[in-house]
Amino acid sequence: MAGNKQKNILVTGGAGFIGSHLCKYLIDLGQKVICLDNLFTGSLSNIQEIYNHPNFEFVNHDITEPYFRENIDEIYNLACPASPIHYQYNPIKTVKTCTIGVINMLGLAKKNNAKILQASTSEVYGDPNIHPQNEIYNGNVNPIGPRSCYDEGKRCSETLFMDYNREHKLKIKIIRIFNTFGPNMATNDGRVISNFILQAISDNDLTIYGDGTQTRSFQYIDDLIEAMIKMMNTDNDFLGPINIGNPNEITMNKLASIILSLTNSKSKISYKELPQDDPKRRRPDIKLAKINLGWEPNYSLEDGLYKTINYFKKLNEVN
Ligand code: NAD
Ligand code: UDP
Repeated sequence: MAGNKQKNILVTGGAGFIGSHLCKYLIDLGQKVICLDNLFTGSLSNIQEIYNHPNFEFVNHDITEPYFRENIDEIYNLACPASPIHYQYNPIKTVKTCTIGVINMLGLAKKNNAKILQASTSEVYGDPNIHPQNEIYNGNVNPIGPRSCYDEGKRCSETLFMDYNREHKLKIKIIRIFNTFGPNMATNDGRVISNFILQAISDNDLTIYGDGTQTRSFQYIDDLIEAMIKMMNTDNDFLGPINIGNPNEITMNKLASIILSLTNSKSKISYKELPQDDPKRRRPDIKLAKINLGWEPNYSLEDGLYKTINYFKKLNEVN
């Protein structure tokens, strides 16, 4: 912290996959971190390493309820279930988290004159009909389907952030995160990378939804955390939204074959029904992040998968 003032940083959703890495990173930087989480999809085991650190505080709180605290310098708003299984479990609650919860956190930022960053998502582009997706594209979202609670919820969060900036001059930042993976992903959240790895290391069939030709672009967690910190530290007049992701696009068929080979697994492939409104292609245009943050991802898919496979193998040994 030489020469720099220690900041009080609130991380909502800090016990989740991304939040836990962010909290750990901020603690390592010497900041004070308050982690606000209702443990819906997060867990205390994700933050076990920092739980007793003198600069870390865990508060079990649901952001749809008001929260007040003084002396907050920065807020990272990550609270929201992120995997389709989890955000569709209680869709009305997902919308409340993205609207009432976001209003509560924006209000908290306003009272503290704090900077606030929103973890938005590539899902704001829906099933995109331009490729790759840049930030100017307004998306192709179904407002009434099973993914809408999340997609439209997150779009409304962005609206609220922009309106708090226009009406109250609040210092806001919006990042649109593309598919991210790494250690601390929940084992039960049904996301493709955790599913495939868990299936491969226990010799169960890998479940590919649809014909496996749909694409995604996966970034490793450490690359995302670096971009989040850089974004928070940009000048106040740079608000985003800005895409953060790895432009390396692959099909789910190809992903399955890479994971089978990295795990030396004997698993077979089993094709299942494609969920409704599942986006066909997704790949970020990251020009803006390169220019404004001087950032681009460092990890290859294979390097990130290697670390994630080791994490899930260790977890399997413990359980
Ligand atoms: P996660 O489910 O692991 O983490 C979300 C955390 O928020 C959990 O700890 C959960 O308990 C908490 N939470 C949920 N609702 C809450 C509420 N009402 N009040 C307080 N806490 C609540 O998901 P993640 O992958 O770590 O995602 C974190 C954020 O990043 C989310 O906002 C998500 O939309 C966004 N995001 C993630 C990805 C990705 O690929 N992982 C992609 C795009 C955007
Ligand atoms: N998927 C799959 N098998 C699984 C889980 C997911 O083929 O066991 C597919 C899913 O249909 C989607 C892609 O993998 O096309 C990414 O799914 P995920 O839930 O990880 O992320 P999202 O759809 O939110 O991008």
